[in-house]
Amino acid sequence: MLFRFFELLALSLVGWIVSKLLGFSQGATIFGPIAGIAIWVVWDGVRATRVTTWLQSRRYDAPPQVSGVWGDVVERSRKAFRRLIRRAQDRQRRLDEFLSAIQASPNGVILLDEQGRIEWSNQAASEHLGLDPKRDVRQYIRNLVRSPAFAAYVNRGDFSHPVLIDGPNVAHDALAEISLQMHPYGTARHLLLSNDVTALKRVESMRRDFVANVSHEIRTPLTVIRGFVETLQSLPLSEAEQRHYLDLMNQQAIRMESLVVDLLTLSKLEGSPPPAIGEWLDADELRDQVLQDARALSAVMGEGAQAIESFGETGVRVAGLRSELVSAMGNLVSNAVRYTPTDGQISAGWLRLPDGGVSFVVKDSGPGISPEHLPRLSERFYRVDRSRSRETGGTGLGLAIVKHVTQRHGGELHVESTVGGGSQFTIQLPARRVKQPLP
Ligand code: ADP
Repeated sequence: MLFRFFELLALSLVGWIVSKLLGFSQGATIFGPIAGIAIWVVWDGVRATRVTTWLQSRRYDAPPQVSGVWGDVVERSRKAFRRLIRRAQDRQRRLDEFLSAIQASPNGVILLDEQGRIEWSNQAASEHLGLDPKRDVRQYIRNLVRSPAFAAYVNRGDFSHPVLIDGPNVAHDALAEISLQMHPYGTARHLLLSNDVTALKRVESMRRDFVANVSHEIRTPLTVIRGFVETLQSLPLSEAEQRHYLDLMNQQAIRMESLVVDLLTLSKLEGSPPPAIGEWLDADELRDQVLQDARALSAVMGEGAQAIESFGETGVRVAGLRSELVSAMGNLVSNAVRYTPTDGQISAGWLRLPDGGVSFVVKDSGPGISPEHLPRLSERFYRVDRSRSRETGGTGLGLAIVKHVTQRHGGELHVESTVGGGSQFTIQLPARRVKQPLP
């Protein structure tokens, strides 16, 4: 303020001196200071205009060069603006980071305003509900999510539980299911969270089917055993008849035992880490062991007329868990024995693969399997020939075990079969689990 006063004083003094120099009369010298003051007012106005124009232009990085107190105003404003801009940038950066974290979330997030219009939505929510994150901003959510269940949920206003709706891709994938839940916040605003629960529902339904299947498989032999027990208790039977019934009961007990053993094997496979590449096993020995078991099974089952042979490479070593590999390979050869007629041929052996891996191949001349069954063979309790499976002591879990073991060893299970032309089951192991003999 003092500086402005001095500016004014200096200019009026200059005006007075100039009027004196110009030889104005005593009375007229007053016009000199007045002219000086007028010039100062105009000059000050020009500086004020430059400063306000700059403030209005918002080009805070290009301040005007003005002198005096206006220069001070410009400098202070520039510093204050810089602080404010930096703070705003900082806030924006934090907001961007926060939004990109929500964007990365597999859960859908939608912010709704007081009227239920979309303010912001992340990618996952857009995919769950078929929204366009940009185009659908400010649209009413109830107009975009047309499910009656969701409309009823919103009308009810009780958001303590989520609501399930069909996903937008229901036409292509009949199983897409989305869970939605509203969470109130702020003043009458809502956060709408969405979750794709399709996989969860599928697992739940698989678990229900599995429990139903296990119960059914156990109940059948139990019912048979109970029937025989009642017969033995209520009828006066000869010793030979009693022995016959006890044999039948024993068969059913064995069936139940096999089922429990296979279930335990599966649950052990699911609950343990994959076998490390530490133990190198002699592949010939594994093959010979399962073929020996197969010959014994073949002898027990029929007249033992099946021709069971080995073929392929020798001297290979494979890395894995012996018990698991013997169980998987054994399941394949025992299936071949069980489904091939007594005069059929069965062969099993190791073959090298071009990529350095090996395959354990089991071929049989059995009835073969029609193509529609092939993709489902390794599902638990899936059977093509139900009665043959039961008759021969099958549990319906053998190929599920084979597939599990193979995958745990980093390999793949393949099936080739034609009806009437026999079947070929292959366990393919990757090169890192194989040591080939030197050529
Ligand atoms: P199971 O204990 O019933 O044999 P698996 O899981 O081992 O169960 O096999 C599933 C189904 O695949 C069998 O029920 C059978 O119908 C079919 N299958 C398996 N191996 C053969 C084979 N070598 N020849 C014909 N069918 C087979």
